[in-house]
Amino acid sequence: MVDLKRQYQRIKPHIEAVIADVLEDARFVLGPPVAALERRLADYVGCTEVVSTSSGTDALLLPLMAAGIGPGDAVFVPSFTFTATPEAAARVGAEVVFVDVVEDSFHIDPTDLEAKIAEVKGSAHLRAAAVISVDLFGLPVDYDAIAGIVAAHELFWISDGAQAFGAGYGDRRVGSLAPVTATSFFPAKPLGCYGDGGAVFTNDPELANLIRSIRTHGHGGQKFEVVRIGANARLDSVQAAILSVKMDVFDEELSRREEIAAAYDKALSDLAVVPVRVPGRRSAWANYTIKVKGRDALRAALANVGIASSVFYPTPMHLQPAYAKWSNGVGSLPMSEALCAEVLTLPLHPYLLDSEVNDVVAAVRDHLTAAPDAQSVVADAAS
Ligand SMILES: *Cc1c(COP(=O)(O)O)cnc(C)c1O
Repeated sequence: MVDLKRQYQRIKPHIEAVIADVLEDARFVLGPPVAALERRLADYVGCTEVVSTSSGTDALLLPLMAAGIGPGDAVFVPSFTFTATPEAAARVGAEVVFVDVVEDSFHIDPTDLEAKIAEVKGSAHLRAAAVISVDLFGLPVDYDAIAGIVAAHELFWISDGAQAFGAGYGDRRVGSLAPVTATSFFPAKPLGCYGDGGAVFTNDPELANLIRSIRTHGHGGQKFEVVRIGANARLDSVQAAILSVKMDVFDEELSRREEIAAAYDKALSDLAVVPVRVPGRRSAWANYTIKVKGRDALRAALANVGIASSVFYPTPMHLQPAYAKWSNGVGSLPMSEALCAEVLTLPLHPYLLDSEVNDVVAAVRDHLTAAPDAQSVVADAAS
């Protein structure tokens, strides 16, 4: 799905040089490459404060801790996402409230979000406290719509931009669009390191300083002063140095991702539902995800000719055993459930060759033209 070896071959001498520098310097934790990376990321996304973290998951968790979200607080999250989104809310002891998603964008559904907020406000024991929206597969959510809801209900808002680093919204980038944005540098994300990593973006210096304190065991101003319960959630110097090398080629990689996505769109849109395009928004193309009926048969046919594909996600979070206590069961979030049966993610990364893109297209087309039932989803979506 993502060929990291090809990228490494391209940048190898630079990677080896910066790793060697960190080894010589020996400041492995919060060393100079971390501060340099945080400044560079702030410039890139257009925010004032960046706090790098040990993972994207911690980049979601730390702001919730900093905001004091906990027991009795309802945190609204889409069900069609990766577990890290609801997990962060669960870990601070908050109540997870699952919200359905919109059919074409896979984003949290503003109408259902309003309905779930109203339900919580009608209950005596819960406070409508926070929402985590997710820029799923790299496409920014409707930030203006979410901002309106957040303002009306005074919610704490985290944008889960784990899949959307580099994505654009008008002339701005993800990381500058919500009060707090979390991203991930997991190797397979648009900007990935060689291990785990993440970052929090905000324009709020007070919140950023709180998160910095929590990132290092809740330290205070004095050495060995512990002023709050924190975590060990720092990004390593080695990973920061690697990310700085990858930033040098990142814009070029984004363009290549867009080129491949456009090629897939053109070649497949008559047979499958291709990812929605929204004027003014640029996806980071973490994933290129189509919808087809008979998805599992297509997946098997691709596997037969040696083409990888993935299902993100096979099960909505409200039907996962871990979240049972916050679930209303099968049928409660119909769009999230329906999507899980139809989505298929095709290979897309910046080092995919045109010939490989053509092979994927040919294999998908071969199967779908031979299986006319599979195409009905396009007609359904159009009607
Ligand atoms: C990858 C991912 C995360 C978590 O990031 P990690 O760096 O793997 O901890 C959170 N949310 C979404 C939507 C993701 O895809």
